[in-house]
Amino acid sequence: MESNENNVKFIFVTGGVLSGIGKGVTTASIAKLLQFRGYNIKIMKIDPYLNIDPGTMNPIEHGEVFVTDQTWTFKPVDDSKFNICEIDLDFGTYERFTGIEAHPSENITSGQIYLSVILRERKGSYLGRTVQIIPHITDYIKQRIWDVASRDPSLDVILVEIGGTVGDIEAMPFLEAVRQLAREEGRSRVAFVHVTLVPYMASVGEFKTKPTQHSVRTLQGLGLQPDIVVCRAERELTEQAEKKVALFCNLPEERVISNPDIPSIYQLPLSFEKQDLGRIIVSHLGLEQREPETASWSKIAESFENPTESVCIAMPGKYTTLSDSYKSINEALTHAAAMCSAQVEVKWIETEERCDIDCLNEDLCDVDGILLTPGFGERGVEGMINAAVISLDSKIPFLGICYGAQLGTVAFARHLMGWPGSHTTEVDSNSLYPVVDLMDEQKSTENKGGTMRLGGHEVKIREGTNLFNLYKTTDTRERFRHRYHLIERYVSRMSEKGMVVSAHDTTGDIINAIELTDHPFWIGVQYHPEFKSQPGEPHPLYLGLIKAALAYKSERKK
Ligand code: GLN
Repeated sequence: MESNENNVKFIFVTGGVLSGIGKGVTTASIAKLLQFRGYNIKIMKIDPYLNIDPGTMNPIEHGEVFVTDQTWTFKPVDDSKFNICEIDLDFGTYERFTGIEAHPSENITSGQIYLSVILRERKGSYLGRTVQIIPHITDYIKQRIWDVASRDPSLDVILVEIGGTVGDIEAMPFLEAVRQLAREEGRSRVAFVHVTLVPYMASVGEFKTKPTQHSVRTLQGLGLQPDIVVCRAERELTEQAEKKVALFCNLPEERVISNPDIPSIYQLPLSFEKQDLGRIIVSHLGLEQREPETASWSKIAESFENPTESVCIAMPGKYTTLSDSYKSINEALTHAAAMCSAQVEVKWIETEERCDIDCLNEDLCDVDGILLTPGFGERGVEGMINAAVISLDSKIPFLGICYGAQLGTVAFARHLMGWPGSHTTEVDSNSLYPVVDLMDEQKSTENKGGTMRLGGHEVKIREGTNLFNLYKTTDTRERFRHRYHLIERYVSRMSEKGMVVSAHDTTGDIINAIELTDHPFWIGVQYHPEFKSQPGEPHPLYLGLIKAALAYKSERKK
C-alpha cells in the first residue's frame, strides 16, 4: 500500500534542544490520550543511527536493548535476511503505557533504510537512474511507514517518534520524508508535535524560551510547522512563558503544553488530559470527539503515589553509570513495589570496583534484596559472583536475570559444590567446571548481530516449585536474549545441595529457571521477565522478589 487506503492519521513527534528530555514518554502519553477515547493506535520509532538494530550496542551507549516477543525477518532484498527482535528501549515505554506489543518492524533505523536501497541498486531495481537520498531513501522511509499501516487496516492513528534532535545531520532524510508524507496526505491528517526544553532559571525566577524558539525555527526551516509544542520544564510553565512560546512558534496558546517534573511518569497522560491535549489532537486530526475513559489509568497512576514504606534492592553489575541501561528492570521493580504500596530504592553497585567479598558484604548489609543483572563479557563478573555468594549465605532474597542467573549458578558451584575455578565459558573457556556454556545452536554462529537466541519462547514450569507458586501455571511465554546456558550435567549434580531446575524450554534442552530449596527466595531465570511487566500488572517474579524483600526487611528489623 502506498497511499492512505485505510484513512489512518499520523502524529509525528520530533525533539528539540536536548536529547533525553522524555520524547518517548511524551509519545506514549499522547497515544494513551487516544486510547482513552477508544482509538486504535500504533507507535513507531525512527532511530537515525546506522546500526541495523541496537542489539550490538553497549547499553551505556544507547541504554537498554528492548526485546520483542515476535521476530521480524527483515529482507532488504529477496536473498538476504536478518532476524530482528532487538529494538530501541522507547518501545518498552510504549508497551508499558499502551499495553500493545511492539513488532520489530515498527523500529526503523537508517541502517535498514540505506542497506535496502543500496542492495536494491545492485539488483538493478533503479536501472538507468542516479540513486539519491531524495527520492529513493525518502520513498523507502515512507514505504516502511505504510507497511505498518497496511498490516492493520483497523488502525486510526500511527504515532511516529523521530529519534535525536532536530538539526542532527543523520535525521534529515527522515524529517524530509515526513514532510513529504504530510504534503501527500494533506496537513489535516497529520499532526506534528515538537518536544522541547524550557529551562527555568531559578536565579532570575524566569523560564527561558530562546532555545525552544531556535529549535522551532530549525524545524520551520525544514518545512515543518509544529501543531503542538510540548515544553519539558522543571515546573508548569507560567502563562507569560506559554504566551511567548506560542507567539514565536506561531501557535494558539492552548497548543503550548507543559510537561513538568512529576513524581511518576504514569501521571503524564493525565497531566496532558488536564491541559486538554486529547481534545486538541482529536480535533486537529478531524477524528470524532469522544468522552475520555481515564478511570482505570488514574487508578494505576495513583498506585505509584504515597507509598507507605520503602524497600532497597541492590543491583550489582557493570552498566551502573546510566540508569537507562536497566530501564525495564527499574520499571518492573517499580510496578511490583507499587502493588505492595511501597517505593523501591535501587542501590547500584559497580562490581568492577566493588569486587571482593569484604566490600560487597559492606555494600549489601543494609539491602532487602539483590537483583543480579543481565550482561555480557568479563568486566565486573567476579564482583557479581561474589554478590551471589553472599546471597547464598545470608538468605537475602535473590533474583538473577539471564547473566545474573548464570553467575548465580557459578557462585553456587564454587561456594557450595566446592568446584574451584567454576565459570561460564563466556569468561573462562578453560574452566574445569564450565557450568555455563554456549548453546549448541550457537557454536557455528559467526556474526554477532541478531544471532543470539532471541524473542518470545514457551517456558514449561515444574509443578511444586517456588516458580510455579508465583506463576500459578505450568505454561508461560517469556522473552530471551542469550548465547550461553546452564549445563544440565553440572546443574543436576547441584541438586544434592538444594538446587532445583524449575523450568525448561519445550525441548527440555535449555534450562529456563533454577531455585534453591533451603532459601526463602533465590531464583534465577534465563529469560527477561521485565519486558512483560506492566504498571498495575507487575510480573509475578518481580512481585515475588519485592514481597520477599519486604518480608526480609521486617524480619531484619526485629
Ligand atoms: N552473556 C550471557 C549470554 O549470552 C547473558 C546474556 C544476558 O544477560 N542477556 O548468555
